[in-house]
Amino acid sequence: MSVIEIAKQLIKCPSVTPADAGAQDYLGKYLQSLGFEIFHLPFYDVPNLFARIGSGAPHICYAGHTDVVPPGPAGQWTYGPFNPTVADGKLYGRGASDMKGSVAAFAAAAAAYIRQNGAPTGSISMLITGDEEGPATHGTVKILEWMAQHGHTPDVCLVGEPTNPDHLGQEIKIGRRGSLTGTITVHGKQGHVAYPHLADNPVPRIVRLLDALASYKFDKGTKFFPPTNLEITTIDVGNTASNVIPQSAKAQFNVRFNDKWTRETIEQKIRAVLDKVKEPYTADFRIDGSHSFLTKPGAWSALVRDAVKDITGKTPEYTTNGGTSDARFIAQYCPVVEFGPVNATIHQINENADVQVLEDLTRIYARVLELYFKS
Ligand SMILES: [Zn+2]
Repeated sequence: MSVIEIAKQLIKCPSVTPADAGAQDYLGKYLQSLGFEIFHLPFYDVPNLFARIGSGAPHICYAGHTDVVPPGPAGQWTYGPFNPTVADGKLYGRGASDMKGSVAAFAAAAAAYIRQNGAPTGSISMLITGDEEGPATHGTVKILEWMAQHGHTPDVCLVGEPTNPDHLGQEIKIGRRGSLTGTITVHGKQGHVAYPHLADNPVPRIVRLLDALASYKFDKGTKFFPPTNLEITTIDVGNTASNVIPQSAKAQFNVRFNDKWTRETIEQKIRAVLDKVKEPYTADFRIDGSHSFLTKPGAWSALVRDAVKDITGKTPEYTTNGGTSDARFIAQYCPVVEFGPVNATIHQINENADVQVLEDLTRIYARVLELYFKS
């Protein structure tokens, strides 16, 4: 089966997170036909799949997801979101790049490797979640716990998320920033705008607090990470009257923080910046990514880089930019790097992947397997 044929079968399943719609069943059957042992691991309403061929070390694991983001207005898709179609050298459909195309590429690469070499001396596995685009609580985290309990913890992991901005060979992600969302509330006293001495306006106070946050420079970046950045995402007063001083004001912000900080130290720093303003407030913080993580450049990242170089002729850069991914959970178990398709159209209407990119990606993944079992 070609990578495009496998990708089409997966795209046909409308697996909008956390629905599966037959995607993992299809993948499981295909991998089983190659000799993989299949474990369906549903946790609550989330379908997950773990598949492994071979036994013992060295154990290489590919991690990905079969769920997709909603298609938006289906009528605006040229061929429909779940009607995979190849046109102008591109495969169209929701998940073509994020990341059914990538899952298909690894499955096709494993098939090619096994066809040429037989079952590996060691193990190849696939960790597939149906909960990456959703809250990510009953997916990768739970599969990893199950893997550890059943002797399936891998030695290295490759996450196939789309890491390349416009062509293969640009970027391997070796870490990601952490993400923290904070809410601050300032309480005042409601009153008539014409009698301000009888009221207490929270709006100027929240503006001063937010200005202190927005203008604070957390750091200048580190060796592998860009500077920590805070963005104010909303300010809510909810006041519909022009003659009323509101009772309270609320704002939300998100910080993407690098490896200089932990969830605890970044929160302490934010509170210190706010406290300096000397305006009373209350704040809550919610971690929605994790601590940042970094797989320091070493043998594993070099092997993936060499595989990419062998197929594309380009030397990819090690980067840590972009949003969070499930690699943050895997990093607690083994060295993990991310390399996958082009991300230019992900989450968009008419999401697509170049047929050539998916074919080259399959060759890169097959090359990773070859180099890994040779070393
Ligand atoms: Zn993804």
